[in-house]
Amino acid sequence: MRLLLTTSQGIEDLAKAEVENLLSGLGVPFRVEEKPLGVEGRILAEVGEALYTDEKGRKRELSVSTYLNERSRLLHRVIVEIASERFEGIGEEEPDLALRRIEEFVSELPVERYVKVSEPFAVRSFRKGEHKITSLDISKTVGKAIFERLERFGKPKVNLDHPAVIFRAELVGEVFFLGIDTTGDSSLHKRPWRVYDHPAHLKASIANALIELAKPDGGPFIDPFCGSGTIPIELALRGYDGRIVGLEKYRKHLIGAKMNALSAGVLERIEFILGDATKLSEYVERVDFAVSNLPYGLKIGRKSMIPGLYSAFFQELSKVLEKRGVFITTEKRAIEKAMTENGFEIKHHRLIGHGGLMVHTYVIE
Ligand code: SAM
Repeated sequence: MRLLLTTSQGIEDLAKAEVENLLSGLGVPFRVEEKPLGVEGRILAEVGEALYTDEKGRKRELSVSTYLNERSRLLHRVIVEIASERFEGIGEEEPDLALRRIEEFVSELPVERYVKVSEPFAVRSFRKGEHKITSLDISKTVGKAIFERLERFGKPKVNLDHPAVIFRAELVGEVFFLGIDTTGDSSLHKRPWRVYDHPAHLKASIANALIELAKPDGGPFIDPFCGSGTIPIELALRGYDGRIVGLEKYRKHLIGAKMNALSAGVLERIEFILGDATKLSEYVERVDFAVSNLPYGLKIGRKSMIPGLYSAFFQELSKVLEKRGVFITTEKRAIEKAMTENGFEIKHHRLIGHGGLMVHTYVIE
């Protein structure tokens, strides 16, 4: 089976490592590839059949897609691949021609092997790049081709609101992909614990990528701008047994973070402190790890305040941080100045796609 896995752009390597780690636990042959056909934010996993023995000693097939949906912290979707194809030149083609190519391709695919004809289905599509067609055009065209194919075997049903089966069609640049979306309409990064919605919350998948980059080893850990608590909550959910602190300046967000932690079942594991990160050493004497998405000044506060805020924060951080810090922000110049002026060394930099922007991510020591 071939699974197309989606995640945020810029963390494919970390998601690949997570998937390899999860699949190793199943004892099945597998191969995982980052950015198949050059598509960012995508991972391809080829996995052999996984069997388990039930309580009556019978061999049963384990659903690898369910296993990944339930266990992964970095993935957004788990899609069973039906087919992938590169459509050379589709970006410049007039809509009629581009859609005809997609329709002809899909109508030849044995979609009947993946669904029961009687199950109501819907097609959800995703399009990225320069094209003369829209994602709605793709949904309609693919839906029509699947319907006509399934009509050969019975009476297919479409249900756009409550489908039993979701086909996912993607056109990213010239690469077209069709699969069965086993995740459903809500992406895995939308965690069920989120009862308080911070206006600038971090995707949980990216929070986990930052935690991976920090490599916390059980020592004290802080998110000094914790907002709704995404990073400390995700760390606690990973079973971290060291001290976890979340600091936040605004009471409203701190209460929201506590509500989220309660809903995640980890409130007891996190010390939430109402306070100002530019006075960090007043709240913690020493931490080994600090991981945060800093205020960008786009959604929160005034942008002109950012250089001063970052400079005061990193000065304080230099008094308490023992091992490693991981920070994410759009404000490249301000953060690099604040980090280097306060004696931190940038060990790693990468760009991660978040909220439609490519955001700078730093590992410092
Ligand atoms: N990671 C968080 C989440 O997922 O909800 C969002 C963090 S948001 C980008 C930055 C947070 O920093 C905001 O909640 C803001 O109120 C807080 N903040 C701004 N200035 C602060 C300061 N001086 N000290 C502590 N927190 C501050």
